[in-house]
Amino acid sequence: MEYRRTAVIKLDTPEGADDSLRETVEQFKHCANTASEWCWHGDDGYHVISKAKAERALYDQLRDETDLTANLVQKGIRRAVEAVKSGVERLKRGENTSQPHFSADSAVYDKRSATFHRDHVSLSTVDGRVECDYILPDDSETPPTKYVSDEGFEFRMAHLQYRDGDWYLHASMEKVEADEETPESESKHRTVLGVDLGVNNLAVASTGRFWSADEFNHWRREYEKRRGSLQQCGSRHAHENIESVGQKEYGRFEIHLHTVANELIVEAVENDCSHIVFEDLTHIRENIPGATWQHVWAFRRLYDYVEYKAEEHGIEAVQVDPRNTSKRCSTCGFTHDNNRVGEVFECQKCGYKNHADYNASKNIGLQYLRRRQNADDGGAPVDVRLNRGTLNVSGEYVPPASTEA
Ligand SMILES: [Zn+2]
Repeated sequence: MEYRRTAVIKLDTPEGADDSLRETVEQFKHCANTASEWCWHGDDGYHVISKAKAERALYDQLRDETDLTANLVQKGIRRAVEAVKSGVERLKRGENTSQPHFSADSAVYDKRSATFHRDHVSLSTVDGRVECDYILPDDSETPPTKYVSDEGFEFRMAHLQYRDGDWYLHASMEKVEADEETPESESKHRTVLGVDLGVNNLAVASTGRFWSADEFNHWRREYEKRRGSLQQCGSRHAHENIESVGQKEYGRFEIHLHTVANELIVEAVENDCSHIVFEDLTHIRENIPGATWQHVWAFRRLYDYVEYKAEEHGIEAVQVDPRNTSKRCSTCGFTHDNNRVGEVFECQKCGYKNHADYNASKNIGLQYLRRRQNADDGGAPVDVRLNRGTLNVSGEYVPPASTEA
């Protein structure tokens, strides 16, 4: 059982630290407000709710404009993305909302920008690190002292806040289970969920779960139909109408993509996967025969959703080189054009036969395994999660540990 507490800790700031902290918080707000402005007005007319996308667009600029560390710039952007995301959810429910604005004197710290001790904290600022002692009530049974002094509670992250002339740390603390106290090293065994994206099935996971493209096809047909009828009208407002139909239709389909993304996360969580592996989406239209620009849009959106939702579960979304994932045999590795005919994969060498998209999803997971094997972390073991058991890098099948018949 794991639980969280927020400890509100008053800080004793050393001489001269006040200015550094104020400037840090000012610059943090600048990052958050710049990102909010950009995300709210969006890319091609759509609100941006992908942290990765916002970071790609704004990180360099904000690093130039501020004296903050990389980590604080990133946290500022992410804070804005979270707020824009909530705003978009409110819009979807038909509630009134506007571009988020950050006016409170506050900044977000994690373990890279702060070092949390039991009696003081070291905070990264525009002038380097500043160490502040905690001002804690003596009673060890009262919060925040109760949690701060309890080694069973670990600091996860904190909001630094300025209020009425004083600095406070709103620290999120988490109870750690006895068997979790040993820090999990990087060499932890990894299990990945491979995901194949396609035209007939929107997504297929290496666990054998399929997400059909029916909903997508329906949406696309409706979209084209409405667009077509509006174009026939030929009114001078036709173009604007087409745009607004687009917005509405997109919104509807985005909800479906959220559902698929949530189900993919559940699949990964239930199967104890540390990574969800997709093919590289850069040239996806060329890689998937029959893919339209709507497919490309949907795949990228789906990936963005999975990426940020996965993060909350400590799961990482990654993309791998998609070469040969549809022609390669996930069992013996034999790669040939004739291995795949439509939706059927049949290996011309070993005879392995299965759904082509399912074979591809396993290859996408395996592709990540091969990449990891060449990585410089000592080649921590990685497996691809299948519907029963796992597949290791040599393509050997490992049956599940349970004794179920
Ligand atoms: Zn084969």
